[in-house]
Amino acid sequence: MNEPCGFGTVTPKITEELALILGAGSVSSDGEKIAAYSHDEVAERFWDHPYRAEVLVFPESTEQVAAILRLANERRIPVTPRGAGTGLSGGAVPACGGILLSLERMNRILDVDTDNLCMTVEPGVITAEITRAARKAGLLYAGDPCSGDASFIGGNVAENAGGNKVIKYGPTGSSVMALEVVLADGSVTWFGGKRRKDVTGYDFVHLMVGSEGTLGVITKIVLKLLPLPAFGVDLLIPFPTVESAIRFVPRIALEGRVVPAAIELVDHHSLSQAEKFLNTRLPFDQAAAHLIVQLEGNDREVVADETERVGKLALEKDALEVFVADNRSSRDKLWKARKSVAEAIMAYYKNYAKEDIVVPTDKVPELLFSVDALCRKWDLEAANYGHVGDGNIHVNLLMADDRPHWHEEMEKVRTELYATVKELGGTLSGEHGIGLKRKAYLPQFLDKAQLELMQRVKLAFDPKGILNPGKLVFWDKNGEGHEA
Ligand SMILES: Cc1cc2nc3c(=O)[nH]c(=O)nc-3n(C[C@H](O)[C@H](O)[C@H](O)COP(=O)(O)OP(=O)(O)OC[C@H]3O[C@@H](n4cnc5c(N)ncnc54)[C@H](O)[C@@H]3O)c2cc1C
Repeated sequence: MNEPCGFGTVTPKITEELALILGAGSVSSDGEKIAAYSHDEVAERFWDHPYRAEVLVFPESTEQVAAILRLANERRIPVTPRGAGTGLSGGAVPACGGILLSLERMNRILDVDTDNLCMTVEPGVITAEITRAARKAGLLYAGDPCSGDASFIGGNVAENAGGNKVIKYGPTGSSVMALEVVLADGSVTWFGGKRRKDVTGYDFVHLMVGSEGTLGVITKIVLKLLPLPAFGVDLLIPFPTVESAIRFVPRIALEGRVVPAAIELVDHHSLSQAEKFLNTRLPFDQAAAHLIVQLEGNDREVVADETERVGKLALEKDALEVFVADNRSSRDKLWKARKSVAEAIMAYYKNYAKEDIVVPTDKVPELLFSVDALCRKWDLEAANYGHVGDGNIHVNLLMADDRPHWHEEMEKVRTELYATVKELGGTLSGEHGIGLKRKAYLPQFLDKAQLELMQRVKLAFDPKGILNPGKLVFWDKNGEGHEA
């Protein structure tokens, strides 16, 4: 069932040894439970066959993670770290079987340090809990993925998750000051610290960020906090065409002289799916596209002035209307709709490809023209939405009908799409990661020198290749999992 990776298998003796490390209640060989943990939010029908771990473990401390890795490394058993399993790239799927290491019981907020403006947490804390804990201390944690009510901070770091506020604050990695990491051989180290600057050696913190569980298991995270802006508003701006919405985006900074906290695009098809899913309606929902522009600051007058400036400018640039959401309930309604698009699409379509493309922001219109052409050619529907302020568009290729060879067909469409993305100077993923889902396309975007460098980095961190094998790194020409 799993990839033929050439690793050791989890024997009953190894399961017993794991139970000695963790206690019997923290080790499971139950098939149903393992199946429930062996996937993320990529539908299993996306793979040729399901992947299954051989054993599932729930460590509660760094020491336990270290002991698991020591054992796994000695016996050459694959270890797949898993956060909340909300990933959209198959990153937490145990492609080579072995041990599935759930971080869900390492879920404590260890400190909120208001002197150093940072917070230390374990990897299994839900992202939204971090936001709430920071807010309680009058501070802002800037990470804001749409999955924040479910995803874990460890998964956010391992994917360098983006989300809605990247345009102003950067992705998750921009908020990471330090990481405690268990390396493949079970040794424990800290990269970085509670300090704002650090050029003492290589920047291992940001090598770990986005490494998708292939270089080490993250067991503690120090996150940067910021002053919490006192006022915020969201503008909902419908446009007659997707292109006019996208063309307005750079005008906000250039002519409006504002850096919003968020600029999100939702096209008509995406919005209608979210409305159906939530049984709600947003104003002007027949418009071809909506932008959501979030403005924030500490001075009410300044925020009001910026709101007026951006709104006026939008109307000059073809907007059909400008709606201002300035109270909790209207703002929540807006963001609930935006954040539900992904789930709605997954609920209404069986066969689809959710892509995570980034192109230079001025190329977004060209990208979307090409997506339209592709959909016409292959008889697909499209739903395009996402972080347009960053040029990061979630292109969703949707099959309304059930086709027998849907997957092969979809791979052909993806191949054509990626060729265009490459031509436009774009890349494969902005925030969802490579995982299993995009690995085959990596050589289209990274040259030989970079791919080899990645192999050598992997080898330096994980000489036996036990950490999340099958993902991100092409191991060697003999097949994954073989020692170089
Ligand atoms: C509805 C929906 C909306 C989403 N919106 C966004 C969005 O706006 N922005 C965005 O960036 N993503 C988004 N995502 C994708 C997903 O939520 C993120 O990738 C998130 O960071 C995954 O976190 P997780 O805890 O679920 O990780 P998992 O899916 O469990 O794992 C993801 C990867 O991290 C590794 N990993 C997990 N924990 C650790 C650890 N402690 N140490 C080392 N490696 C580890 C895993 O091995 C895997 O490779 C969305 C997903 C859904 C379903």
